[in-house]
Parts: sequence; structure tokens; C-alpha cells
Amino acid sequence: MSYAQVIVDISHENVDRPFSYRIPEHLREQIVLGSKVEIPFGKSNRLITGYVVDFSERTDYDESRIKDISSVCEKSITAEERLISLAAFIKEKYGSTMITALKTVLPVKKVTKALEKKSVIAVWEARELSEAAREAERKSQRAKARLLDALCESPRIDYSLVTGKLNVSAQTILSLQKQGIIEIEVERSYRNPVSFREEQAPKLILSDKQQYIVDEIEKDYAGDRPGTYLIHGITGSGKTEVYMELIAKRIEQGQQAIFLIPEISLTYQNVIRFYRRFGDKVSIMHSKLSQGERHDQMERAKRGETSIMIGPRSALFTPFSNLGIIIIDEEHEGTYKSETMPKYHAREVACEMAKRAGAAVVLGSATPSLESYSKAQKGEYRLFTLKERLTGGTLANVNIVDLRQELKEGNKSIFSHRLKELMEDRLEKGEQIMLFLNRRGYSGFVSCRSCGEVIKCPHCDVSLSEHRGNKMVCHYCGYEQTAVHKCPACGSNKIAGFKAGTQQIEEAIHRQFPQACVLRMDADTTKNKDDYETILSKFSNREADILLGTQMIVKGHDFPGVTLMGILAADLSLSDHDFRSSERTFQLLTQAAGRAGRGQLPGEVIIQTYQPEHYAIVHAAAQDYESFYEEELLYREFLMYPPAANMMAVQLTGPDEKGLEQLAKRLADEITKMEFETLPMQIGPAKAALSKKSDLYRQVIYYKHKDYEELVKVKDKMEECVRLWEVKKENVQFDFNPINTF
Ligand code: ADP
Ligand code: ZN
Ligand code: ZN
Repeated sequence: MSYAQVIVDISHENVDRPFSYRIPEHLREQIVLGSKVEIPFGKSNRLITGYVVDFSERTDYDESRIKDISSVCEKSITAEERLISLAAFIKEKYGSTMITALKTVLPVKKVTKALEKKSVIAVWEARELSEAAREAERKSQRAKARLLDALCESPRIDYSLVTGKLNVSAQTILSLQKQGIIEIEVERSYRNPVSFREEQAPKLILSDKQQYIVDEIEKDYAGDRPGTYLIHGITGSGKTEVYMELIAKRIEQGQQAIFLIPEISLTYQNVIRFYRRFGDKVSIMHSKLSQGERHDQMERAKRGETSIMIGPRSALFTPFSNLGIIIIDEEHEGTYKSETMPKYHAREVACEMAKRAGAAVVLGSATPSLESYSKAQKGEYRLFTLKERLTGGTLANVNIVDLRQELKEGNKSIFSHRLKELMEDRLEKGEQIMLFLNRRGYSGFVSCRSCGEVIKCPHCDVSLSEHRGNKMVCHYCGYEQTAVHKCPACGSNKIAGFKAGTQQIEEAIHRQFPQACVLRMDADTTKNKDDYETILSKFSNREADILLGTQMIVKGHDFPGVTLMGILAADLSLSDHDFRSSERTFQLLTQAAGRAGRGQLPGEVIIQTYQPEHYAIVHAAAQDYESFYEEELLYREFLMYPPAANMMAVQLTGPDEKGLEQLAKRLADEITKMEFETLPMQIGPAKAALSKKSDLYRQVIYYKHKDYEELVKVKDKMEECVRLWEVKKENVQFDFNPINTF
């Protein structure tokens, strides 16, 4: 290549505007994507440094005015430089422009106004607070008691956490303020959301099994070869305690740590344990922070003011100067995969980053992804297993109920006889119940019982969902219309919503158990940012008997009062038409089953299903990960799905159906002309599972190959074609080893 595009300033706003430079012959070998180079700049031609973000053979500029790159700088040394070279890796591996990759890894630089931070601060001593809390309890002022108790533990609490997670009203706060028990502090600069008056909590003495893991990993550091480790351990088996010990060791060595968690489990409890142990060294990143606040966190990390970054996927790109360890908790979670370009997987990028920094990667899960477990089986990752639950409580007793049998016996209700019996029993005893519907969001699609017509969104090729208030809503684009009562195809009035959504189940509970107090948690009831925490804390404060919900209720929350978990329709997530649907079902059911019996009382789990013999259901009921893994891997090997092979989805969207089909065919044809040692397997082009969304048509082509690099060649070729053909109307994206069906 003769020309390079160079950005001279990596501050966010300027990233989009690279300058063209000629690559002199003697530098051609050395310059790669992401290289730091010296270039003459401006009228005075003073030498400045920049980064190479793209190459080209030709240039649109006046050849005589293009300057030469002066030299290539030494290997990248600063954290930011390492991130730039990581961006180059991401661009190559997942496909996107270098600019997009840079925007993914570099912290957003934006001048933002100083934000106001409100905190609730205890004026009284802990003992007085605790007495006041007991007093409030006697008067049944539960919210007040909760706040007072929380202040005993932490005398400064973020105001939004008080009103959100703790679910205390502004009035209650005001009345405590008037009594002089608390103060409200408003600060301008950014602070950690939580801070503790008492420094650190004493660390626990690790069990032999926990200590063994720490020692083994430490040995690898001592031998200068930290690797990747997978801790397979059920919830409550002490993984977090191991993570904290590993982090403590790194900090002793002057290193830093990144701790990734899926967004949804970024709860107060989780973070508090880290603050207790590590105090102000901890920094957190989450969706509720403003861009300015996020940038602040990154800056503090870069300056060495913090040593631990906790956060979701994007926290991976924290510019620590001497990174020692990356920990990914709940590593099987789909949120670690980016759904926008570049569609990178945080686990893979973490491994690459760790390799460059000489750091270790520790993955943890109760139900590891097939990808990670198979790598552990092959010895690429080192596997550790923790089998016992340290919090006490026994594993719940799991029963599978065959819904076909129920139907034969004339039971058409959502609740099997057994589940109904157990629910009555728990309600009578005042114990809590969780009911889980493993389907994303609301699913009451509207169809005609006479002719089968399904009412669809006019902009997306999906069925509309029936909602309360005589409405039908599209869950992809938000389109709304009034409900229809006559079939538009045949005119029949037997048109109705399919009753399987959480809303209908809530109504059914009200009918059958009028005495029960129910909380519902799904996409509809968690629209505002604090809703999720509010519902969970209400349930945990035992303000309801039943918590009914989707996925959200099974992730990482402990409710000691729950002694019954009902899984209403275990097969729903099996019908996703996606090669990962069994894995997802197994994970969800195992997690759900683990929810009951956390406290002193033994728990019971009912799995209702139409496919009681399905291996995902059988093994989940037995909580037997290894057996599930073996069967699932056989299936993946047989059909060449990841991790047995690599798979790439080429995702095309465009406004014109014919034009899009032609583009997909033309691209696929180009690949047929290429030479490979072993041909990649091609599926499609075809209409995507969701064939139209927000008025854009969607096509997809799948390629499978044992060798990832061969798929990268396919991607590179297609990227080149899109550039050469000057494709403007259509958009082409790549998704390697996809998590979600397109
Ligand atoms: P996981 O991350 O696997 O869910 P945790 O580390 O959160 O497990 O541990 C579960 C519970 O057991 C926590 O309440 C924790 O404080 C406690 N725990 C963990 N390790 C020990 C230990 N070595 N001694 C006593 N309690 C422990
Ligand atoms: Zn009809
Ligand atoms: Zn729509």
C-alpha cells in the first residue's frame, strides 16, 4: 500500500478526520494498522506523532501536496497506545472500520458540566441509628427502618440508591432530615457513588479449595506465565471471594485489575463487597453514569488513582498502566458480546489484551459457555471446580411436570396440579414464591383462531403483541395501533391474543389466588431506570408473596424467603430456532432452580414442560452441567456449530428488497470465486429470521469453517467489494460466532 491515513489526535472528536500521508518505500515493511508514526504537520512542517488507521493504494488528493511519513516510533508503551493497537486487532478480527474500532476502545472525551451529586449522610452514630431503626420497625415504618439500617453500615449513601434500590420516598428522607438524623449533601465534583467511614472489612479465611485456586494462579505469575482460567462453581460456592483475593495479590504487586460483570447484576450488594475490601481503589462503570462521569472514571484509572475497575463489557478498555488481571464473572452471559459494530466478544478481546499486558484472565460461571468449557477440556484454559455452597442451604428438590399429561387430565390452566398445590401451601405458610416465564418480554401475539392470520407490524416482519388498554404494540420499533376485533383476512371475530405473556399470568394468579400479593417484573414494568431495583427490594423486604417475571428474576439475587420456584413453560426458550437455544434453556433453568432454598428452609422447584425428555431439561433438573455439556457438544460437532467450528453471519440491510437480494447474491458469488484449502460451508443468502425491521429488509449469509482465519478472508473480501462497488444504500455487517439470530 502506498498511502496511509493518519490521525494526529486521539481525542474523540478528531478521530473521524484522518490525514493522508505517503508511505516511503523503506518504511513499508514496518508500518501496520495502529502504528505510531512521526509526520510533518501544517505549514511549518513541524514533526508531530499520529496513528495509522487505514491504508490505500490510491488517493483523491493532489499527489504533489501529499507529504511523506517521517519515521515509525518505538513499540507502543502507554496504555492508550496499547488500546490503539488493540483496536487494530478488533478491526481485523471482527470487521468494522478502524475509526469505529477506535471509538469502541478509547474513552470518550467530551467536556461536560460538573454534575451535582446528592448523598444521604448519617449525623447520628451507628448505635443510635440502629435503635431508631428498631423503633421505626415497631411502628411499622419499614422504609424508614431500611434506610436507618443501611446507614448503620455505610454512613454515606448515594441519594439515588436510597430512593431506588432502598425504595425510600423523598418524604421519608425529608422527615429524617428534619429530625436531624441525616443530612443531604450536594457536591459538584465526581465522587465514588459509595464510600465507607470504616476502612476495610476483615477478609475471610479461604477454604482449602479456594486457597488452592489462588495458589495455583499465583504460581503461574511467579513463573511469568499467567494464563486463562475457568472457575466452574455454583452460585454461592465462593468464586467472588477468590476473585477478590486474586485482585488483592495483584494490587500488592503494584498492578491493576478489571472485573467484568453482566450489566444486570451490577447491583449494590455486589459492588459493596468490593468497596468493603478495597475502599477507594474501586471504581465502577455502569449505564447510569453520564458520558462525563464515565470519562472521569477512565481518567482516574489512567492517572493511577484507582486500581480496580468494575463494570460491563466496555470497562474492559480501562487504560490501566500495569494491568495484572481481568476477571469475567458469569462469563456465559450474552451481554459480553457486542451487538453493534465491531461485534466483538469481551472474553476473546480480554484474552488478547491480557496476552499483550502479561496479565491473567479468570472466567467464572455456574454454567460455563460451551466455548469456554471446551477450551478448558482441551487444556487451553485451566479448569477449577467449586462444588459446595458456602452459605449453607441445601440444593432444592426439583420435579418435572409433564404438561401434556395435565392437558389429558383436563387441566387447561397455566398451573399444573402439583404447582397449584405447592403455591397454596406456601401462601398459607407465609413463604415466598417465584414464578419464571423464560421468554423475553411479553408474548401475547394476536392471531385468528379461524384462519390462522397473525396481525403483524407494518414496518417489521413480526407479530404485534396485545397490551392492556385495547392496544397492540410492536416490540422492535414501538409501533402502536388499537386492537382489532375482526380478522382482516376472513372477517371472523375469533381473533385474540395468545395467552402466554407475563401480564396474562399475573391476571390468572389474581383469579386463582386472590389473597396473594404479586409483583411482576418484565420489560414493561422496568422501563424507568430504578424500577428493577425497586421491585427486587420490595420482594426482598417481603412486601409481596409472589415474584413473577422473565429472565430478569433469575439472575444473581438471593431471596432467603423463597421456598418455591415455578418454571411455567420450560420449552418456550427451546423454540428460538437458534443453535444456542438448548444451552440458553439449560442455563436459565439451572439458574432458576438455584433460586429456591437459599435460606434456612428447604426449597422446591417445579419445571413445567411439554418436552420432559429433552436433554436440556433433564440435565438442568439434575443440575448436572457435565452431562449437558457432553450431549450439547455432540450436537454442535455434528452440525458444525461453535465451538466445534467457527461461524460468521454476514448481515445485510437495505431499503429495497430486490436490491438487497442482488447485493447478497453478488457478494456470495465473489466468495465462490476465491480459492481456499478447504472450502467454507455456505448457507444462504436468505431472508433473515427477522426479515424486515423498521422498514429495512434484512438478508443473511452464513459461513462455517474450522479455521477462523479462513472466515476472516471471506470478510475481508466482502469489505473490499463493498468499498469497490461503492455500496451506499445497503449496509453490510459481520457477526462472528453470533449469540443472537439476525
Ligand atoms: P459466588 O461468587 O460463587 O456466588 P461468593 O464468593 O459470593 O460465591 O460466596 C458466597 C457466600 O459465602 C458469601 O456470602 C461469602 O461471604 C461466603 N464465603 C465465601 N468464601 C467464604 C469463606 N472462605 N469463608 C466463609 N464464608 C465465605
Ligand atoms: Zn381469520
Ligand atoms: Zn415494528
